[in-house]
Amino acid sequence: MKVACGFAALLTVIVGIGYGQNPNADVKILPVSGNIYMLVGAGANVTMSVGRDGILLVDTGTAAMADKLLNTVQQLGNRLASTVTPITPCVGLRCGEYSNPYGWSSPAINAIISSPAPPQPIRYVINTSVDPDHSGGNKRIVSAGVTYTGGNIATSGGGNQGAALIAHENVLNRMSDPGTGKEGLPGDELPTDTYHKDFYKLSQFFNGEGVQILHIPSAHTDGDSIVYFRFSDVISAGDILSTVSYPVIDLEKGGSIQGIIAGLNKILEIGIPEFRTQGGTMVIPGHGRLCDMAEVVYYRDMLSIITDRIQDAMNRGLTLPQIKAAKLTMDFDGRWGSTSGPWTTDMFIEAVYKSLKK
Ligand SMILES: [Zn+2]
Repeated sequence: MKVACGFAALLTVIVGIGYGQNPNADVKILPVSGNIYMLVGAGANVTMSVGRDGILLVDTGTAAMADKLLNTVQQLGNRLASTVTPITPCVGLRCGEYSNPYGWSSPAINAIISSPAPPQPIRYVINTSVDPDHSGGNKRIVSAGVTYTGGNIATSGGGNQGAALIAHENVLNRMSDPGTGKEGLPGDELPTDTYHKDFYKLSQFFNGEGVQILHIPSAHTDGDSIVYFRFSDVISAGDILSTVSYPVIDLEKGGSIQGIIAGLNKILEIGIPEFRTQGGTMVIPGHGRLCDMAEVVYYRDMLSIITDRIQDAMNRGLTLPQIKAAKLTMDFDGRWGSTSGPWTTDMFIEAVYKSLKK
């Protein structure tokens, strides 16, 4: 059942699902809908599709958490592989004689002698942005994956080039040349598949559904993607949505408040609530808890209100220090604001101001 309140669901499901054997208590698993799971605790939220075709991950968390994330992904993949592979009810001469189904074999014996299901391969990784808390685990996760046919080689009998790594072209550009004299990532850590248009689609169904990657221009950065799982009806939103802070607008990497709001509107355009504004299409934010349309609407409205207030102050000739002093976000600060840490309310106000100034 889809539930509106992600927080309650998170608690219920994590406690209820019984992953007590998992030694990696730091990465938590929340089943979302259909094939889709939300992995929490590896940095940014990670979205996982798992099923008969293997594993697809949206984002890879931080480099420091990569091993734990990989462990959790593989455990979940193996666990599901063993539950979805049906046990052959009968082998040998007496097969089909269901009047006497337990000849020299039986389901119980088969369950014992049949080999365990092979681990599900990690086949695709998608980065929603270039941020290290979203792409830091790329190297570890991608190298643990496999591409059956990719580029101009078929790897099933030869070398392994790892999973396919998909991102918007601007993510590749920034990874290969971060600017300001910093060195880019080596070639084997860069995205293998990029797109430069409005969207990218996996060329065929993956785990029984279409997977669509949509570019959100100039939002958190200029290389943001959201990922839409069309049958499970889940959207992985990356950093254009957060339940724990104002959106991080990276102006130097081409972000803008207008792009964030447009991206949230895009999610609202795709998503459909189950009833009133609750349930239905679920949205996994870059940070924080699972959301539905109601939370996306509320976040969009909050950002629109703040943007209008700042625009109005600018129209009245207020300077940036005056706008900061005017506390135009005060009624929302209790929920999303911060006076310390990497992204403060002041930084957010300044980013909105500069977005509007452009
Ligand atoms: Zn993030």
